[in-house]
Amino acid sequence: MRLSGKIVLITGAGSGIGASTAKLFAKEGASVIVNDISEADGIQIVKEINEAGGKATFIGADVTDRDQVKAMVEQVIAQCKQIDVLFNNAGISVVGTLHETEDDVIDRAMQVNIKGVCTVSKHVLPYMMEQKQGSIINMSSCLAEIGFLRRAIYAATKGAVLALTKSMQVDYAPYNIRVNALLPGTIYTPFVENYLKSAYEDPEAALEKIKQRQLNGQLGTPEDVANAALFLASDESKFMLGSPVYIDGGVVSG
Ligand code: NAD
Repeated sequence: MRLSGKIVLITGAGSGIGASTAKLFAKEGASVIVNDISEADGIQIVKEINEAGGKATFIGADVTDRDQVKAMVEQVIAQCKQIDVLFNNAGISVVGTLHETEDDVIDRAMQVNIKGVCTVSKHVLPYMMEQKQGSIINMSSCLAEIGFLRRAIYAATKGAVLALTKSMQVDYAPYNIRVNALLPGTIYTPFVENYLKSAYEDPEAALEKIKQRQLNGQLGTPEDVANAALFLASDESKFMLGSPVYIDGGVVSG
């Protein structure tokens, strides 16, 4: 098994990509700490993993809340003694042009998508530095690199995650901590369903247009992203430091 004995913390693991990754990592032998702001969703994923013979625990926390994050990380250390892998996956979507978007919506996107990554990493890093090893996977997006209609605010948060990843890598490489970023294209999850419903009068037609932008004409699945996360979490990617990893059906290249 590729993650035997590893302790993994995944934020936003109650749904979509985070949930698929939690299930895959557990199959590969990791003890998975499932975090989510939604207790019901997180507990459901933990139940499914444990019923399938894996090892998972739920810790609820809002990644934007410093006290909740601190308590979550302390709980992981108290229970498991270490954290080998942190997957900063929690994120929210924002749709709309800049001038139309309410200030509180902009603030929340910045807080969850970028400040959340900083806050969770900040609390996990001292333990990884002491262990002298760790892998941090930050969830960016292909929109960090390409323009897309009405996604400027979301794209800005994900561009910030990519920039954060590269400079974090420089700071923490001396501690044998690797920091890499995932840049998915359109992956069919509740996140995309909600986005399509809120942004378009005809969500199915919009989905077809998005598919046409992918070079293979298909949408990604949460499992496609989970497989890339598995590689970055495992020692197989030991020579990858500060790398952007595209799982985008070729949309950035096309
Ligand atoms: P999703 O909505 O299915 O899952 C996101 C999870 O994060 C939810 O369970 C939600 O409750 C949780 N969450 C939200 N705010 C939180 C907070 N403050 N604290 C803790 N948990 C919180 O979405 P998904 O499609 O699986 O997306 C996961 C990540 O992948 C996000 O960061 C998203 O930006 C990114 N992403 C998604 C796509 C895509 O096409 N689906 C593409 C590129 C990047």
